[in-house]
This record gives sequence, C-alpha cells and structure tokens, in this order.
Amino acid sequence: MESNEKIVTRLHVDEPLSKGTSVGLDHGRAHFLRTVLRLKPGALIALFNARDGEWRARIDGLGKGWCSLSVLDQSREGEETPDIWLIFAPIKRARLDFLVEKATELGCVRLLPVFTRHTAVDRVNTERLRANVREAAEQCERLSLPEVSDPLALDQLLADWPEERRILYCAEAGEAQPISECLADLQPGSSWAILVGPEGGFSGEERSGLSHLSFCTAVSLGPRILRSDTAALAALACWQSALGDWSVRPHRSGAEA
Ligand code: SAM
Repeated sequence: MESNEKIVTRLHVDEPLSKGTSVGLDHGRAHFLRTVLRLKPGALIALFNARDGEWRARIDGLGKGWCSLSVLDQSREGEETPDIWLIFAPIKRARLDFLVEKATELGCVRLLPVFTRHTAVDRVNTERLRANVREAAEQCERLSLPEVSDPLALDQLLADWPEERRILYCAEAGEAQPISECLADLQPGSSWAILVGPEGGFSGEERSGLSHLSFCTAVSLGPRILRSDTAALAALACWQSALGDWSVRPHRSGAEA
C-alpha cells in the first residue's frame, strides 16, 4: 500500500503509541483485519487513543488470532473533549444500541445507565455497550472512547454525585426552562451531565427529589413528548452546539478550526 494512500481503518488501542513501538492486537481485532478486511502485511491502518492521538501503523504480520503492527508516525495529536456525560434509563436493546452509538458520535465522554422507578429493563449488557461505543468512536474519528459505567439506581448515583458537575435534567413534566434559554446563560468549559428518564417517565417522587438538588436544572425539549433516545440525543446536540466543540471542523476536512 502506498504510504500516502488514505487510511480508512482506525482502531482504538490502550497501549502507548509512539514512533517505532510495536502493538499487538487481540483475537477479535486480528480477525477483523485479516478475515473481514483481508488486509495483508505491509498494509497501513490508524491506531489511536485520547492520550497519544492518532498514529499511522504498518501491519508487520498477522495470522489466526494475532496481528503485530509497527507504529510509524503521528497524524493527529491528543485532544481535549468537552466534558459532557449522559445519565440515561436503559431502554430496550435495539434502541439502547442506537442511543449509545449516537451519544458517542455526539461526543459524550461518559455513559451512565441508571435504574429509575419506571425503567422497563432490569439488566444492562455493559460489555456490549462498550463494544458499540468503541466501534462508533472508530467510525466517527473521535480520539477518545466514552466510558460506560455499570448501572446504578438513580438515587444511589445522585447520593454520591460530584456537586461541581451540573445536571441538565430533561423534565417532561413540571416546571422546566427551555433548554436553549438555559444554555444561553452558561459559559463553555465546565463539567455537565444530561439526565433522561425511561419510556415511562420519571415518577412524581423522582421529579420532586430532582427539583430540590442544587446541581440539577430542569429543562424542556419542547411541547412534544420525545422517546428517551430522542430526548437524550436532542439534549446532547443542544449542549454540544451551545457549549461543546461544534465550532471545530472534522479533522479530515482539512479546514482550519
Ligand atoms: N411516560 C412519559 C409520558 O408519557 O408523559 C414520557 C417519558 S419520555 C418517553 C422519556 C424521557 O424523555 C422523559 O423522562 C424525559 O427525560 C425526556 N423527555 C421527553 N420529552 C421531553 C420534553 N418535551 N421535555 C423534556 N424532556 C423530555
């Protein structure tokens, strides 16, 4: 493969990346390169992580369940990601996979599943969600992987909540400020979380509890009742547009930020 040829395959690796280091891939990734993409020794791919940025790497050897690469040169430096978390009540599998994939594309830094009074599912396959977010991060060219937390009960999560991180609580009922008005008053740079309820909505008791938390702001997403996944993604989009990194152009666009 020509060295100036466009690299399309990006893989997130936790290993340190620097010129001349060797990286080995686990069985699943080796299988993906060798059998799915049918790449051969000498082919170039990109390896990345938030700490070291993105590096071009050459496949030195690959076989059944193994692949070894040499790191060549850096194509992108590590970058800061606006600090937004998403707290969500897990929903049914297909929509949940969609939600975490889109939240990754929308720059979410941490995904926190919470069980609320009306949450319709009682377990979350966090390993599947972690695989989903990694695939979405590789596809959308972000350098970091969102962290996927193990699920907690909402009151348990809030009991230990770091008060310096404000929560935008999407309230489908009760008093709430339009999200655009709330965000217009804020400055970028602080740490935030968005909280969205389950398909059954928050219970009256949960809404009352949330309205008494100093770090929680109830926001409205308009007159229609949105599905949980729609609400989460709409709120994330509003936040990114107002306080996040949507003034930055995609890396490959070549346009200056
Ligand atoms: N079961 C509730 C009902 O029918 O009234 C609807 C819950 S809604 C499907 C799921 C979650 O999305 C809500 O708990 C809330 O967090 C968010 N949400 C939906 N529509 C919203 C709106 N117009 N404003 C703010 N949040 C909304």
